[in-house]
Amino acid sequence: MEGFFAETGENGTGPGRGRKTAERKGHMADLGIPQNTIAVLQKYGVRAQKKYGQNFLIDTHVLERIMDAAQIAGEDFVLEIGPGIGTMTQYLAERAGHVTAVEIDRTLIPILRETLGNYENVEIINEDILKLDIRALIREKNGGRPVKVVANLPYYITTPILMELLEKRLPIASITVMVQKEVAERMQTGPGSKEYGALSLAVQYYARPRIVANVPPNCFLPRPAVGSAVIRLDCWEKPPVEVRDESFLFALIRGAFQQRRKTLPNALAGSGELELSREQVAAALEDMGLDAAVRGERLSLEQFARLSNLLGR
Ligand code: SAM
Repeated sequence: MEGFFAETGENGTGPGRGRKTAERKGHMADLGIPQNTIAVLQKYGVRAQKKYGQNFLIDTHVLERIMDAAQIAGEDFVLEIGPGIGTMTQYLAERAGHVTAVEIDRTLIPILRETLGNYENVEIINEDILKLDIRALIREKNGGRPVKVVANLPYYITTPILMELLEKRLPIASITVMVQKEVAERMQTGPGSKEYGALSLAVQYYARPRIVANVPPNCFLPRPAVGSAVIRLDCWEKPPVEVRDESFLFALIRGAFQQRRKTLPNALAGSGELELSREQVAAALEDMGLDAAVRGERLSLEQFARLSNLLGR
């Protein structure tokens, strides 16, 4: 890709930072403006594909909010998942040192060539993010140094994508993503709430989550049926709790929430994966000063870690 070299913004923190999108000069039209997105879709005769979870962002304020939350600056290497027609990619390219964007839908590639053609710092990879060797990509493109992930995620595979990014302990500094509001709440919440569960604990083991914005359906084309939220996950260098056997901790968490209405001794003894008796679980809970009738939804990550160390092999 040839052409445009991003200029350094006046405040020196990165290309175009703080500049209003409407003031961009010499670029492709800003796709955050609804008419521009509609024009591109019409020009290429494409419709948003439901099977790929395509809901294009059409709100410049939301896009700016995501950029602010992700704190993209001069030298950052950004990995974008699902650039669509390039809307958020334009905003990222204005601020980051480099953007690699991975898009599964090959019918969008010619569009991206046009909408991002002016940016020298953008590379598009036509691939399924779940099939890509992300570690090798980061090694090859950024010398293995930590990258920032930013995306408006396809909602049908939000959890598999996030767990892939987190569980493999890839060199990722932060993940700032648009997800379903309910999923964002499940990631951020703590013990006692009805949203608390295996996803909350898994995410919080690897990162510190913070919801930064709620986004209504009318900010997308087409409108999704549900509300959305932007969440930023700051990946821990080291998990906040110490466990002897990580896989046992996660088996314990799965067992506790598979039947969340059951008490922990019943839920865990009933989980084939664990081979634990009710008595063993009850004794460990007692050791921790907890009631044997407690449910998993009451235990914090620290308590699950302790239980795991008491019961694990
Ligand atoms: N970033 C664009 C925006 O904000 O307007 C589009 C976001 S849309 C919600 C999700 C994007 O992810 C779509 O472009 C879709 O084709 C792409 N996508 C879906 N599944 C994918 C996968 N497994 N790997 C890579 N991209 C995927």
